[in-house]
Amino acid sequence: MRQIVVSLIIFVLTFFLFIGSGNEIVLKSSLLKEDTFKTIEYQKPERLQREGACSLVSDKTIYLTFDDGPSYLTNQILDILKEKEVPATFFLVGSNLDTYRETVKRAYIEGHTIGLHSNTHRYNEIYASLDAYVNDLKILKQRVKSIIKENPRIVRLPGGSSNVVSRKYKKGIVTEVTNYLNDKHYYYFDWNIDSLDASGRVSKEVIYNSVVNNLKMGANVVLMHDTNTKQTTVEALPLIIDYAKANGYTFARITKNTPVCHHHINN
Ligand SMILES: [Zn+2]
Repeated sequence: MRQIVVSLIIFVLTFFLFIGSGNEIVLKSSLLKEDTFKTIEYQKPERLQREGACSLVSDKTIYLTFDDGPSYLTNQILDILKEKEVPATFFLVGSNLDTYRETVKRAYIEGHTIGLHSNTHRYNEIYASLDAYVNDLKILKQRVKSIIKENPRIVRLPGGSSNVVSRKYKKGIVTEVTNYLNDKHYYYFDWNIDSLDASGRVSKEVIYNSVVNNLKMGANVVLMHDTNTKQTTVEALPLIIDYAKANGYTFARITKNTPVCHHHINN
């Protein structure tokens, strides 16, 4: 009987040690006020499989990137970045560009990178042919140039270069597009940390945990979104920055000299 009890205790201890080792979310979140994050949600592992081949560097650098702006929330994002003295990268789309010209100018003047995403962001159009993609990119480039008076060279493909949606419209299109970008001295960047804020309404806890639990040595390119509905992204942002600073990470904006972060092309 005693042997059984001892075995049972050993089993239970081992079990909790094992569970504990994978439970970084709890440990990292505990740096924040305890009542801030009551629900601990794990991200779906398949979403992490898109991790790209970011060049390995020995430091701990975070590149915050915001896709699909400018938006009603961009100024709030800029306020936070200014207060925390953190640079970031914005991959713009065309839809709200005229409404928020001053905001884009502000982002540029405050030292952030203004990159190109897509003028229409309509997959069926831009991925139908290389000409269509290039045409869309050039329209956006001209529109952005008229605001910041500089030619943007940093690009992010809608869906990233690993997207499989584009093959519905033209097989091999991403290979064509990325070859074009490389030839024409554009620099395209994917990401290796997904904040998961793209899908519907995601809580700030999920966004926070998705980012901080995946930070690592080297380049951390974080995918976030800047659209009118992404209030929880704005709420998670200062918490992510505070966590990262407290843990020895520094922030940088993407430039053409940034270590390359590319997904595997699957088209
Ligand atoms: Zn997008």
